[in-house]
Amino acid sequence: MVQEARNLDTDILILGAGGAGLFAALHAHKANPALSITVAVKGLLGKCGCTRMVQGGYNVALAAEDSIERHFMDTIEGGKWLPDQELAWKLVVLAIERIRELENELGCFFDRNPDGSIHQKAFAGQTFDRTVHKGDLTGIEIMNRLAEQVWARDIHRLEEYRAVELIAGKQGISGVLFIDMRTGEYVFVRAKAVLLATGGGPTMYKYHTPSGDKSCDGMAMALRAGLPLRDMEMVQFHPTGLLAGTHTRMTGTVLEEGLRGAGGHLLNGAKERFMPRYDPLAERATRDFVSRAMYLEIKNGNTSPHGGLYISMAHLGPEKVRREFKGMVERCADCGFDLAGGLVEVVPTAHYMMGGVEFAADCSTALPGLFVAGEDAGGVHGANRLGGNGVANSTVFGAVAGDTMAAWVRNQALRQPDRVAIAAAIARCEKPFLKSEPIDLEALRERLYETMWQKVGIVRDAASLESALADLRDIEAELAAGSLPDMDRAFNLTWHDWLNLASLTQVSRVIATAALARHDSRGAHYRSDFPDAGPLEQSAYSSYREGAVTMKPVAFTRVRPGQSLLKNAA
Ligand SMILES: Cc1cc2nc3c(=O)[nH]c(=O)nc-3n(C[C@H](O)[C@H](O)[C@H](O)COP(=O)(O)OP(=O)(O)OC[C@H]3O[C@@H](n4cnc5c(N)ncnc54)[C@H](O)[C@@H]3O)c2cc1C
Repeated sequence: MVQEARNLDTDILILGAGGAGLFAALHAHKANPALSITVAVKGLLGKCGCTRMVQGGYNVALAAEDSIERHFMDTIEGGKWLPDQELAWKLVVLAIERIRELENELGCFFDRNPDGSIHQKAFAGQTFDRTVHKGDLTGIEIMNRLAEQVWARDIHRLEEYRAVELIAGKQGISGVLFIDMRTGEYVFVRAKAVLLATGGGPTMYKYHTPSGDKSCDGMAMALRAGLPLRDMEMVQFHPTGLLAGTHTRMTGTVLEEGLRGAGGHLLNGAKERFMPRYDPLAERATRDFVSRAMYLEIKNGNTSPHGGLYISMAHLGPEKVRREFKGMVERCADCGFDLAGGLVEVVPTAHYMMGGVEFAADCSTALPGLFVAGEDAGGVHGANRLGGNGVANSTVFGAVAGDTMAAWVRNQALRQPDRVAIAAAIARCEKPFLKSEPIDLEALRERLYETMWQKVGIVRDAASLESALADLRDIEAELAAGSLPDMDRAFNLTWHDWLNLASLTQVSRVIATAALARHDSRGAHYRSDFPDAGPLEQSAYSSYREGAVTMKPVAFTRVRPGQSLLKNAA
């Protein structure tokens, strides 16, 4: 039986409690403490999302010898000239403000040099050591301090509330339909402004790094709301995912970028260093180059016992490695590896989606009242995200969204929702309770993993992408036709798994479709049938809307290919 939804009202509704969601809440509250602000989150507060998992750190041009122009140029060149330059500029400028806020107002203790200045370490793909960090577990420091500040304020929380549909009203968003995961009840939260900050998360790949609560729900909801998504073919693989065996969730989890930045070597199955054969920057090349080189080594059969490769740090001195990478050394030890003195098996692992909902520099979207920030948003990074620009992106644009929404709601009233849309969304979620044929979700998930890894992964071509699209249609059809073994809706994790797979399959189709439409190879997207980057002057980004991809020219608003802001500034 289709259920009715319970109703709640708020001024600002924030979906997600990562860096983007919590910064938005803090800034909206600071701008106007009288506002009713609600943060709704699928996971457990303080334990969900990827910001907490940030290891390496936060890119920001703080040193006197560095500059925002240099950070900007690294971001544009790393992104292969596909980033939206106004968004990238905002990122590098406001990262300075955010890191000061994190340190001086929120109380983060970042690592320091002997002279008291903030220590900044090397990250691959950057021309300057600009990554601020707290050891190699930076996200815990950021999220703990941020959460203390947010929850000390009068901000409402809905924990284990899964957003399932954005509901439009007349001339804009009216609110969001949720499942209260603990009771299985539907709840409709009406809001004047909604922030989508559910953090993307390419968990449709066999090896992946993001937290288990992330399943591209935000992007899937945006797609169903008819919003355009850009750069969806750009899925970043982190080169060093831990390979810890088949039946452990530790496989795929990331060993941080700083290991390669510090001078770590990648070795093949014969224990030979191979990266210098592929790129003059060797292990310090950007993630796309390193992942592709690793993929080719693996494909050529030069693998470790579990089908991956090795990272080796011992030549840097085990004591130094233990001191500087305490978290990573402990993580490896937990899985039976000696990172400081031995070899650790690694494999490229799906890490980050550069693509996401198209948005303006104030975080607004094509749907009035809907805002987006963090990994759900597309356009900041283009074809490649620099390590350290991810948490900068979520905190910078989260804060922008908070400021913008606080100003926006001043002149808005709550809109009446489209009740038919709510009923349709409930009916979609209820589908697996209606059918009789039980479904094997584990087997479907494995098929999705293999399809995306083999056919829409680090190297793609037209044939593999077409074949993937056919597989994805089959998976989607089987998912829609099957029923769940347990009909109780309260804390029914199998139901949520079903919903996760529905979001992931829908977004996977968009990734494959966008990859098919891009006839060149840029950054994270490599087509073996179109291996050239194409003329940079004619750079175009992919924009997906309602089944169709349009390639749109990149506007070079600040710098053109062949130019540099550094030279201009000199
Ligand atoms: C292992 C790892 C290491 C990383 N290291 C670095 C690093 O060193 N430097 C760097 O710059 N970046 C790093 N990143 C990337 C960085 O973590 C992300 O770019 C960034 O934190 C994303 O922030 P966010 O706020 O957009 O999303 P998240 O922090 O992931 O938060 C998403 C939130 O949305 C919630 N949510 C999801 N779906 C729903 C739903 N349907 N309804 C309600 N809530 C929902 C989740 O529960 C969560 O609270 C790393 C990522 C990983 C996985």
